[in-house]
Amino acid sequence: MVDKQEFIFQHAPCYLYEENLIKERCHALLDKIPEVEFLYSIKANPFLPVLKTVVSQGFGADAASVNEVLLARKAGVSKDRIYYSAPGKTVQDIKKVWGKCTIIADSFSELERLNRYAENQNEYINIGVRVNPNFSMNREFATSSQFGMDEEQIFETDLCFLHLKITGIHVHLRSQILDADMLGRYYHNCYRLAERMNKLSGVEIQFINFGGGIGTVYDATKETPLALEKISYALKRLRARNGCGLRAKFILETGRFVVCHAGTYYTRIVDRKISCGKTYLIVQNAMNGFLRPAIAELLKENTGTFPLKGQEPLYTSGSQCEFFILGRKGNDETVDIVGNLCTALDVIAKDLMLPRGEIGDILAVSNAGSYGCSLSPLLFSSQMRSKEFLWKEN
Ligand SMILES: *Cc1c(COP(=O)(O)O)cnc(C)c1O
Repeated sequence: MVDKQEFIFQHAPCYLYEENLIKERCHALLDKIPEVEFLYSIKANPFLPVLKTVVSQGFGADAASVNEVLLARKAGVSKDRIYYSAPGKTVQDIKKVWGKCTIIADSFSELERLNRYAENQNEYINIGVRVNPNFSMNREFATSSQFGMDEEQIFETDLCFLHLKITGIHVHLRSQILDADMLGRYYHNCYRLAERMNKLSGVEIQFINFGGGIGTVYDATKETPLALEKISYALKRLRARNGCGLRAKFILETGRFVVCHAGTYYTRIVDRKISCGKTYLIVQNAMNGFLRPAIAELLKENTGTFPLKGQEPLYTSGSQCEFFILGRKGNDETVDIVGNLCTALDVIAKDLMLPRGEIGDILAVSNAGSYGCSLSPLLFSSQMRSKEFLWKEN
């Protein structure tokens, strides 16, 4: 068996995703919240071995593009467990996914496009609609959104299409929520919305996709994990109401919760220098390997502090990642960690206390399993590309 440390030294800069940890996180959700069907939001980490690991645990797929629908099929997800929800689907997109998933319409013109396409195919299909509801995550009124159709407009529009039946709704307002009560209220509001919509002609609710929101802890010194048992309790109560009402399937989506902590980014220290008293560690593929820490530093540079409000998925909080140097302890120094690009933005940590690292050492950056590799400008400056691996412990 290959030694993990040796493997990392050989392949850095690279992402390593730990299969065991992914499975553990999947089961934390599946075991504690048995009331729903879970979809994996592929955009969090589309690396096929990672996707396969998650779906092998019993997740369906939340696909945000044609290629994610095709990836989900490739990973073995059956078509009735793939939901395709994204704004701006073209006729070409519709054609490519036809018969391969449940399509969630994102606008009124998309409903018409879908109806026309189905008519040309001489088929009758069930679809979902993404709704921008008359409530937000913690308030009781609507806010404008580039996603979905306003609830108010839905109730003013004729939804009878000859070749379409609306059988589900999809609502998604926010990511990275650690307040279970807030999520519980939100699920309740979504359920009531589904009940209202079920009364419209052209609509027969069979599934409610409550979207994402399940947060994960990035900094254990400041955050408490989401109380999954509270989420479960809220959904249990809705299940009871559903049992003698809509009898709809309940769906939750999540990306980061299952993969974020399972991934670490490893890169090599290739130089060190001191400028005007400041120590710099220069690593390979910093912002072009893992963008998120660089965005945090950029925001701080422009606002004076790390912003408290997340800008998902580019930025979560100031201490969203931890940095380590493999095999080094003690002998701390304060450093800036920068990359090998010709731009002063290529900084992933400033004034960080770290054990002294030497040229050739490996720097590890935690919480790199979601919105890591696929969100980074890998092609910038024609550097070599950071690789990705699924690490299996046997
Ligand atoms: C991105 C996304 C998710 C996943 O968000 P996470 O915070 O990674 O769990 C879920 N639903 C929708 C609609 C999304 O766009």
